[in-house]
Amino acid sequence: MAIKVVKNLVSKEKYSLKCSNPMVPEYITIHNTANDASAKNEISFMKNNTSSTSFHFAVDDIEVIQGLPLNRNAWHTGDGTNGTGNRKSIGVEICYSESGGPKYKAAEKLAIKFVAQLLKERGWGIDRVRKHQDWNGKYCPHRILSEGRWDEVKAAIEAELKALGGKTTSKPSSSAPKASGGTYTVKKGDTLSAIAKEHGVSMATLQSLNGIKNPNLIKVGQVLKLTGSSTSSTKPSSKKTLYALPSGIYKVTSPMRKGDDVRQIQKALAALYFYPDKGAKNNGIDGVYGPKTANAVKRFQSVNGLTADGIYGPKTKAKLEEKL
Ligand SMILES: [Zn+2]
Repeated sequence: MAIKVVKNLVSKEKYSLKCSNPMVPEYITIHNTANDASAKNEISFMKNNTSSTSFHFAVDDIEVIQGLPLNRNAWHTGDGTNGTGNRKSIGVEICYSESGGPKYKAAEKLAIKFVAQLLKERGWGIDRVRKHQDWNGKYCPHRILSEGRWDEVKAAIEAELKALGGKTTSKPSSSAPKASGGTYTVKKGDTLSAIAKEHGVSMATLQSLNGIKNPNLIKVGQVLKLTGSSTSSTKPSSKKTLYALPSGIYKVTSPMRKGDDVRQIQKALAALYFYPDKGAKNNGIDGVYGPKTANAVKRFQSVNGLTADGIYGPKTKAKLEEKL
């Protein structure tokens, strides 16, 4: 059964503040509110405050409430006045994410169904779904990210979409160039699967051509080969360039070890969801081998059958390389 949407739209007088521009949406962006308020309260707060921050929908454990018309943009992705996230994406906030628990779980479940419904209505595929983080790097949806479940949430949306009889991939836009040789430079918000679809190449080809082991680890500005001979034989070395892990022993010392080599260790840990300090600025990737980094190393070691001493050495290095 279709999910009913309760409308409680901002007044027209507030359009210039909350949704200044007409919009033809192309994406759906998922957020966590980082709050423990209901959808009703989130929307009424958004409607009545004097900040420009805005979003289209708030979803909690019982209902979906719409606060902005879908033909107007919202200011929700931090990518600037002309950013694609702000100007071309529908913002969906999932409530009760701060504390989590059953209410959050139920809100996320309803949001998954609702996003699938939005996709179905538009004839879109899962490739239109983004997380806030894709647009400007903000750690949002924070709860989904910290629990390492973004792929799982996307898969759940895709499954719902299938159940609704929707397409799982969007029609490639007519302007998208087909693979005709050459390269593609990764832009903000891109996912490897979206790039693959847009250019008519398979994910496997794209990964093999570019030596990408983990499709979630493409970087803005990275140049991807779209055709050509596979570089799979050089996979290990391209992996090494991405996460050039230092040799030697790293542990908490006084003074603490600092620098780019520590940063590389932290980045590798974060890529595997062992954040030095999730929720902190840049997930705690600060180039300092302090107690938090040691703790992340310890957690990584303990789930990978290593001695969990929080000391980075050759064995931890090898295990990180294996997992990346
Ligand atoms: Zn957000």
